Amino acid sequence: MAKLYFRYGAMNSGKSTALLQAAHNYEERGHGVLLAKPSIDTKGDLGILSRLGVVREVDFILAPDTDAYAEFQRHRAAQVAVTGRDVSCLLVDEAQFLTAEQADDLLRIAILENVPVLAYGIRTDFLTVAFPGSRRLLEIAHSLEELKTICRCGRKAVFNARLVDGAFVFDGDQVAIDGVHVGYESLCGSCYLQESGGRLANR
Ligand SMILES: [Zn+2]
Repeated sequence: MAKLYFRYGAMNSGKSTALLQAAHNYEERGHGVLLAKPSIDTKGDLGILSRLGVVREVDFILAPDTDAYAEFQRHRAAQVAVTGRDVSCLLVDEAQFLTAEQADDLLRIAILENVPVLAYGIRTDFLTVAFPGSRRLLEIAHSLEELKTICRCGRKAVFNARLVDGAFVFDGDQVAIDGVHVGYESLCGSCYLQESGGRLANR
């Protein structure tokens, strides 16, 4: 039986880089893979963009109403038809933006289709609350693995503080993609509490 793996970390912990490396490792050995990501991530459009500058297009996008299981089956059949080889692994980037139902589908794909699923995502939002996809994956994944990154103080960073025009903010929507005005800094618990004035989850 194949397994569902959830590899989570704070922002800038190299999740996309690790995903692209895993895809490369499979393909180097002659195995086919499928890459997917939720549509809410607009950072790279169809592409998976690693911080090191490597870009690769995903095979399919999961909109919030997409049936992830059916979409996987469709693209698996298409890849078998084109290449003559089966899919050895499904890799999902930005998995925090999946719906809980889509996270459930990843488990079904692993167990019922016997294809390993590697999901990569951020555990919590800028208020330290789990994203819907991450919460479900933490509940059901066979294997949890933390990808680590370092806070400015040298400790392990676990939270993602939001900056708007360079200042930390602790109010706002769960999703604000980093861009011109919005940025994020990965912080340890101690530095996060210092910046938030002791608040967690807007309390
Ligand atoms: Zn720190």
